[in-house]
Amino acid sequence: MKIAERISNLGTETAFAVSGEARTFAAAGNTVYPFHLGDMNIRTPENIIRAAHEAMLAGRTGYAPNAGVPELREALAADVNKARGTSYTAANVAVQPGGKPVVGKFIQTLMNPGDEVLYPNPGYPIYESQIEYYGGKAVPYGYVPGKENFRLNFDVLEKALTSKTRLLIFNDLQNPTGAESSREELEAVARFAVNHDLKVLCDEAYFDIRYGGESVSLSSFPGMEERCVILYTFSKKFAMTGWRLGAALGPADVIDVIARINLNDESCSNHFIQIAAVEALKGDQSGPRKILEVLKERRDAAVEILNSIPGVSCYRPNATFYLYPDVTELMQKKGLTDYEAFRKDVLHKTGVSFCTRLHFGRALPGEDRNYVRLAYSGIDEELIRKGLGLLKEYARA
Ligand code: PLP
Repeated sequence: MKIAERISNLGTETAFAVSGEARTFAAAGNTVYPFHLGDMNIRTPENIIRAAHEAMLAGRTGYAPNAGVPELREALAADVNKARGTSYTAANVAVQPGGKPVVGKFIQTLMNPGDEVLYPNPGYPIYESQIEYYGGKAVPYGYVPGKENFRLNFDVLEKALTSKTRLLIFNDLQNPTGAESSREELEAVARFAVNHDLKVLCDEAYFDIRYGGESVSLSSFPGMEERCVILYTFSKKFAMTGWRLGAALGPADVIDVIARINLNDESCSNHFIQIAAVEALKGDQSGPRKILEVLKERRDAAVEILNSIPGVSCYRPNATFYLYPDVTELMQKKGLTDYEAFRKDVLHKTGVSFCTRLHFGRALPGEDRNYVRLAYSGIDEELIRKGLGLLKEYARA
């Protein structure tokens, strides 16, 4: 069938292809150590599951309002205000079937064809896909190695600005690097957005996945609340990836448009899951605390082993559940220059499955180091130790 031309601009999340390959490898009787997907193998806290059951039994099974049920919109506004110092009300919240839809809806609402959008690269691949699909120009900025972690390359961000730049996509507590901007860096980004009148998508998918200290939202700086849309998700904090629930929070006029897009796309988000999400926000918080404890132990185990592998070096990010080790020397030792060849070689010789830099956007000019991304959200500590132990043997061979 002849597919519409616009589809040629629609990208994909190539990490899902890595999953398919890992599944095939496992189906052939091999053990796979799954570090590739940002999915979680931790159960959703029981109080949330129970609340969903009860909501179903209570008949919350019909359509919900397109912007979300009022009790969830109110609970989300209160929760986000508490952690970010914003002043949202229910009118500033449009509930979504996941955090991901916020990316495309933000772009549809605020970007005209031909507008330029600054986006992180390496970064979540859906940004590039959605910008180009809706006829914008995707302009990358990057993260570079710093003393203790990757840091935003603010110089590149500033230099990428042109008279056509309208939007900035910003993902602090960043996928894939785990980078976290300091308050001073955030202040500089906020000033940059205000001075150039940029509207900003604050992708805060990992805002609550941190192992010490407190997250700071770009939306909390002067002049930002009125130009930011926050991407909120229940996926990570509450281990609810498959439930599909998130929200956009921002200026009421933008939220009204996003809610109108909801009406056109999916009508509404799942009704009883929204009720369960109120329990997630207002109920017992021991579940999310436990999730963080498990993730922290996995992080510590993985970082320690990775740094003992010849030719590999890895930071210990304080947030997200990703590691982005430098594997340049290991690839050189193996005589491999191609990322895909390296990834497949490791998978077939050790069963360790991961994504590489290329799954997070096209490589930028001047990039001379090689990185892979390991997610530790979907693999138990025991398998982390076994899998990375095999990677160590592979590196030594
Ligand atoms: N933003 C970032 C940076 C992500 O990594 C993800 C998921 O991995 C999302 C948004 C969307 O997550 P979800 O649609 O599950 O809420």
